[in-house]
Amino acid sequence: HARKRFGQNFLHDQYTIDSIVSAIAPRQSDVMVEIGPGLGALTEPVCDQIDKLHVVELDRDLAARLREHPRLKDKLIVHEADAMKFNFDELAQPGRPLRIFGNLPYNISTPLIFHLLEKSQHITDMYFMLQKEVVERLAAGPNSKDYGRLTVMTQYYCQVVPVLEVGPHAFKPAPKVDSAVVRLVPYQTRPYEALNVADLHRVCQEGFGQRRKTIRNSFRNFITAEQLEELNIDPNLRPENLTLAQFVSIANWLTTHR
Ligand code: SAM
Repeated sequence: HARKRFGQNFLHDQYTIDSIVSAIAPRQSDVMVEIGPGLGALTEPVCDQIDKLHVVELDRDLAARLREHPRLKDKLIVHEADAMKFNFDELAQPGRPLRIFGNLPYNISTPLIFHLLEKSQHITDMYFMLQKEVVERLAAGPNSKDYGRLTVMTQYYCQVVPVLEVGPHAFKPAPKVDSAVVRLVPYQTRPYEALNVADLHRVCQEGFGQRRKTIRNSFRNFITAEQLEELNIDPNLRPENLTLAQFVSIANWLTTHR
């Protein structure tokens, strides 16, 4: 049975499974990785379309089942590992970036997305089942309550495309929340380039750490109101009003004025 600590809610609704696999559209030569294959709801139909599939599964019993699975064992490369610590870039081959998908354990989805963003130059695209509210945060635009650090950092690296909403009854056991599938496509050429991504993280943290404050106040430790105005940014805005371009321009100011 499902283990709560591993966030195990297994997909069983065939329409949902078919919709996800046709959105992923595996091609035979793709280098694909599934995170958290579980009992194989997505693994089986994807394996019908490709020759080899890497899977990263933390649960020892489930990993063992997959290794023995009569229809899957010849196609799977089972990595019994924690996806949060897994070196995805080692699976990518020169000129063959990864396609990653998974019905993620919801308790680790946000840190896992941050972990994968750092590897984005090795990734073609990602398809994730997430808590619906997390997809809303990923896809948010400025001036909304969903817009935050996860939004800005994800949209810095990736195009974000919501794919499908999924109700609790598509899973066994049914989770308490609504779910949704999102497609993340890392940019080959990013629209805005941070000179030092750590500074972009810092600006997001300082801003969204105190969402109600104006940026004149929350950024006062590293940039003055006059300097914000020189960047054509109104110091009376709040962090949720800033566009990605404005976050990057403040981060780059910080990088070059230290
Ligand atoms: N893909 C299956 C499905 O859709 O039916 C299972 C999805 S279930 C929500 C999450 C899966 O991730 C479980 O199989 C669980 O054991 C696995 N898992 C949990 N934490 C993990 C981690 N840190 N790294 C890798 N897999 C993990």
